[in-house]
Amino acid sequence: MYCPVCMSANTGKTGSDTYYCSECLLEFTCIGNEVTIYYIDPEGVSYAIKDRGEARRLAEYIRQGDELPLQERLQELIGKC
Ligand SMILES: [Zn+2]
Repeated sequence: MYCPVCMSANTGKTGSDTYYCSECLLEFTCIGNEVTIYYIDPEGVSYAIKDRGEARRLAEYIRQGDELPLQERLQELIGKC
């Protein structure tokens, strides 16, 4: 399974339809043809990210930063909620 965000093959299965990308540190589910990307914040809250552009921006931020953004910063990054 390739990561829908960075196209890396560096992903692992964490559930029946759930995968984790160790490059982006994002989770995604693949059910049928529908891929949904999730971000899990440091408090363990998951957010569905509908847009892949947003997911890429977020993944880029996570890769560069030392820590995962909290909800407030996340909203700033992906501009919604
Ligand atoms: Zn990825």
